[in-house]
Amino acid sequence: MSISADRTATAAPDNVWEMAQRQLDEIARLIGLNDAIHAYIRVPKRVLEVSIPVKMDDGRLRMYTGYRVQHNMSRGPSKGGIRFHPDVTLDEVKALAMWMTWKCALVNIPFGGAKGGVICDPKVMSLQELEHLTRRFTSEISIIIGPEKDIPAPDVYTTPQIMAWIMDTFSMQHGYSIPGVVTGKPIAIGGSLGRDKATARGCLFVVDEALKVLDRKIEGTRVAIQGFGNAGMHAAELMSKRGYRIVAVSDSRGGVANPKGLDITGLIAHKEETGSVAGFSGADRITNAELLTCDCDVLVPAALEKVITRDNAPSIQATIVAEAANGPTVPEADEILFDRGIMVLPDILANAGGVAVSYFEWVQDLQESFWDEDEINERLRRKMVKAFAETHEQARRRKVDMRKGAYAVAVDRVAEATKLRGLYP
Ligand code: GLU
Repeated sequence: MSISADRTATAAPDNVWEMAQRQLDEIARLIGLNDAIHAYIRVPKRVLEVSIPVKMDDGRLRMYTGYRVQHNMSRGPSKGGIRFHPDVTLDEVKALAMWMTWKCALVNIPFGGAKGGVICDPKVMSLQELEHLTRRFTSEISIIIGPEKDIPAPDVYTTPQIMAWIMDTFSMQHGYSIPGVVTGKPIAIGGSLGRDKATARGCLFVVDEALKVLDRKIEGTRVAIQGFGNAGMHAAELMSKRGYRIVAVSDSRGGVANPKGLDITGLIAHKEETGSVAGFSGADRITNAELLTCDCDVLVPAALEKVITRDNAPSIQATIVAEAANGPTVPEADEILFDRGIMVLPDILANAGGVAVSYFEWVQDLQESFWDEDEINERLRRKMVKAFAETHEQARRRKVDMRKGAYAVAVDRVAEATKLRGLYP
């Protein structure tokens, strides 16, 4: 069998989907991937666009657009979060779905990759409007999701409450409770202990491993975090408890810095009160752009895509970049950082803790038997340490950066499954 496809992404990847495809193309060359398999895994398996009518609080009807993209199911049902954000595009969702395929393969859980997104601004919507939007979106995508098919989860600006509405809507349609249809749920309805902090905890574990490899100590290591949502806030909390010094954090409204270390408990209280970290006392103001190039040892981009670019990569001062966000570094910046000897822990490794514990949640739901938090955190630690070691070994052996190392492991696993299953019909 031979399939030809245009495998050369020529356009500059200011489009995140082209960026994702270009990352795969480079790995295909690096590992000598079979052309037919390359063509197969270079495109999504299935794309669904839905229109979502919502009755707003003022009585008017508003139409929203949402997407669910299933990139690959060779290794199992597809898995990936749902993002509610005004800047969502189909191309972004396609890229995020492809990254989920690699992420699940890297931490070796039996899932493929998917992603969902709705173009909306949850910050200006009431709880009731959000619930209507979530329920109708779930109903529209229910034709392709399910515990054996495709399992959503939280992502940017989606919460355990939103996961509860997804679970309830899907269950109501079927007439019985189906907790395994979604992960990141509240504990009371089949969520897993440790899931809320899992992305951050996984990130912490791989930064710990990176420090060991670089022969550096945790104590006093200075960390800057861009983004103070689920990933960034919990990373600040867990890392500061572990002995790291958090010197700067930011969110969409601005940031704060203190070279002596920020009081994270106070900062979380401030964020809960005011909705932002900006304006926290006992710290200097800092912009999002300044945060990325501030004086620190570990930089944790934990917000959105494409923030580390050709323009700011030469000025980054950190020794380690741990990508808690998906896709924060563009390929040109990757090259600059690699040449400068900066170790980038790629998104598919550094933020894989979230989906790893989502897998544990799904397993517990299917078994209807639940584990304690220590067991979950220990299982997570083992997964992350192993994925780090495999990534590092590939990077070392092939003399490439950690992203390419991680992709080499992940793409090879997906390719093997795809080859074994063969073509239907
Ligand atoms: N949204 C998270 C991610 O990008 C978690 C996905 C999941 O748990 O399925 O990895």
